[in-house]
Amino acid sequence: MPLTEFELIYRYFSSLGRGEGVELSVGDDCAILSLPPGERLATSVDTLVEGVHFSTDIFPEDLGFRCVSVAASDLAAMGARPLGMTVALTLPAADELWLTMFSQGLAAAVSDYRLPLVGGDTTRGPLAISVQVLGSLPAGSALLRSGAREGDAVFVSGTLGDAAGALAFLRGEWQPEPHHGEYLLQRLYRPEARLDLGQALLDRATAAIDVSDGLLADLGHVAAASGVRIEIERECVPMSDALRSHPEPEQALTWALTGGDDYELCFCMPADEELPGVTRIGRVTTGAGVECNLPVDAVRGYQHFGTSG
Ligand code: ADP
Ligand code: MG
Repeated sequence: MPLTEFELIYRYFSSLGRGEGVELSVGDDCAILSLPPGERLATSVDTLVEGVHFSTDIFPEDLGFRCVSVAASDLAAMGARPLGMTVALTLPAADELWLTMFSQGLAAAVSDYRLPLVGGDTTRGPLAISVQVLGSLPAGSALLRSGAREGDAVFVSGTLGDAAGALAFLRGEWQPEPHHGEYLLQRLYRPEARLDLGQALLDRATAAIDVSDGLLADLGHVAAASGVRIEIERECVPMSDALRSHPEPEQALTWALTGGDDYELCFCMPADEELPGVTRIGRVTTGAGVECNLPVDAVRGYQHFGTSG
């Protein structure tokens, strides 16, 4: 007998909702969360649609983890502390094997990010997943895109271009060594939101963004919002050994500069500040736009609805 919607929710999604500040979780018409005195709510939502944001070959477990990472990455970019999330699932059918694996991926993200699943919605239709994240920020502080100042240095966490390299690998455009290929696919399918770093940057960085559309495109938003020019030293952009193993260094660098879906944090900080584990890639100057000695065409990130100029 097929599962009812009610059974489906209780079997797969109702046990992931406990956490600090969660007063009421899955089961009523709304969830109720409390904020510590003096803190503010930060919220964001991201949707992944099959065939647009992921293909059928992703394992449901990876999909469950990835959809949370993509949304939680926005909390990281604001320096917010995770409070909880809701998940709106559109499913073609109540496939129990799929639901088991998908909910295991969600559970891994709930635990890794301390981001309880406090509610959601379940409907039938072509596979799509929306994750709304809720976080808290102390009154008076947040990592905005608009805070970069002339003289700041620009930093990035982790390595860039891995997800783009993985997509090219999946399309058969290059054939990395097996262990490099595995690493790149892991980076594409299981990106990690940099929530701890984001919170550590809260009172140190002047501006931050998560790299979802590509470094240059995303830094373009920071430059525009802050009214500054950002100069990137392309030889400083961190790349994994796996990406560096590509036979054409220019191709690997192009992916690192313009590839999306890495979910690393890129941020600006006064140049005399130091932070372990991140890479300095450039500086903030007066003017407008992002400079990195690449042809303009390569500078556009991934855009869903055509070009905007
Ligand atoms: P309503 O009709 O009031 O919107 P629903 O039947 O959609 O209620 O949901 C019942 C409860 O289950 C609610 O608390 C809702 O937040 C939760 N819920 C529904 N779908 C999901 C899901 N995919 N993940 C987590 N919680 C869910
Ligand atoms: Mg509902």
